[in-house]
Amino acid sequence: MNRSLSRKGREGQTFILVVLMTAILVILLVTAFDIFLSTRQKARLITAGDAGALAAAHWQGVTLNLIGELNLAHLAAACDYRLDPADRTNVIDGVNALAERLAFAGPLMGLYAANRAVEENYRENAQGPDQTIPTDSGFTRILQEESAFARLHLGDTTLWTGKGDDYARMLENVLADGAYVGCDNARLFSSDGTGDHIYYRREFYNAAEANGPRTWFCRYCGYDHAKAISMLRGMRKPTDEDLACAKRSSGWNAGLFGVGVRASDLPLADITANPESVLEQIWEDYVGGLPVDAVSIRTSGVVFDTHFPWFFLDQQNLWRSWHELAENDDGQLALLSKPKPQYDVYGAMAAVRVARDVGTLSGTTTNNFVWMAAAKPLGSLANGERVTDLFGIWNGDSWADAPLVVPAFAFTRLVSLGGVGANNLYQSDAAWLAHLEHLRNNQRNPGCSRCRLLDTWEDGGAAAAAEWLQEHAHDEVCAPPGKGGIHDDDDFAN
Ligand SMILES: [Zn+2]
Repeated sequence: MNRSLSRKGREGQTFILVVLMTAILVILLVTAFDIFLSTRQKARLITAGDAGALAAAHWQGVTLNLIGELNLAHLAAACDYRLDPADRTNVIDGVNALAERLAFAGPLMGLYAANRAVEENYRENAQGPDQTIPTDSGFTRILQEESAFARLHLGDTTLWTGKGDDYARMLENVLADGAYVGCDNARLFSSDGTGDHIYYRREFYNAAEANGPRTWFCRYCGYDHAKAISMLRGMRKPTDEDLACAKRSSGWNAGLFGVGVRASDLPLADITANPESVLEQIWEDYVGGLPVDAVSIRTSGVVFDTHFPWFFLDQQNLWRSWHELAENDDGQLALLSKPKPQYDVYGAMAAVRVARDVGTLSGTTTNNFVWMAAAKPLGSLANGERVTDLFGIWNGDSWADAPLVVPAFAFTRLVSLGGVGANNLYQSDAAWLAHLEHLRNNQRNPGCSRCRLLDTWEDGGAAAAAEWLQEHAHDEVCAPPGKGGIHDDDDFAN
């Protein structure tokens, strides 16, 4: 009896042990599977996001090349004396109208292609029942607002009546097939862009958090330690005027994946020092032969035309030659090379964001994965020269020398997000866009975490940060890059 009981007792203990071990094993398996699931989802999102950025940048390159070809067609028509003067006018008007439409249609082809790339890429890499990526409600709403705004406020031009309606319709067509990707370096017509005040810097909020990277303030002040401290000590609640900001969309470019072109109504003679030789050089490099040569350019008077605009790379968008961008000066701005900090470049560049909620098998949490990627159309001029070498540079506030758009874009590469210009990013981050609205109205919204942060910041947070910097003044925390201390450490993580 006792032996039997004792055996039963032992069996019971064994049973409990087995149950316990099984439970532990199950927990381990679920955890491992959660990690596997997350990693797989992340990998899929990364691949999809990179594909989206490349697709959009590819279309930017195609668009710029086509606009460049149309500049050449403009030149050819102007110099072709076999054409009746009235026909010549019609041809050039037609050419320019096409270029103006392309600057909108091309980037939206990029948006469409990026959406398809993300959707298809995600599906192709899927296994099991989880085959589809849902459309993103935040991106959808941003596109809807942009479309509605364009319809109301994007005005006609001489050659394009109904420009706003047409652009809105193009956006709606893209939307009809689903928004899966956000354009993070958009210049939305529906948004006033970003202002100059430090509160418009997204990195400011990271730095202002309880344990934020205080050294960012030194970087913001050009590594001037004393300036950073006095700025922090002087920070008060900003006025409406401090937070007012100018509209930044030019009206010549699509708000999403815009290519940074501008049509000038100034004659070329007022823009470039030697317009005739520049035009002759461009024609030689890209086409050659009749009807364009030095004599025909001179006799056509094309450099004094004010009726027909030419399409330029907009220097106000900080266009740079890609040769100048890479830190190591080898002309390669690929995935792994860093751009020099001074080349906070906009130009034609596609920064995309993809986001997806992933539930775990254990059901305890839902993770929101976000992946941002940037790509840029690249190439070189026919003779290997840099754009700025051949056409001069933007002198800061006038059109002294401006680069004409030429068909020079040959390939597309993923580039570092740092090259996009932090101020221009996060335009598809719905929560960030909402906060920009709070700033512009200078009204704190209690539901917005960044507004709440500002209240704490002004209520002693800034003073505490100044104190911290003062204490660490001798730790070389504010040394510029290359001399130890902090580096190009803008927080682009999500
Ligand atoms: Zn806010």
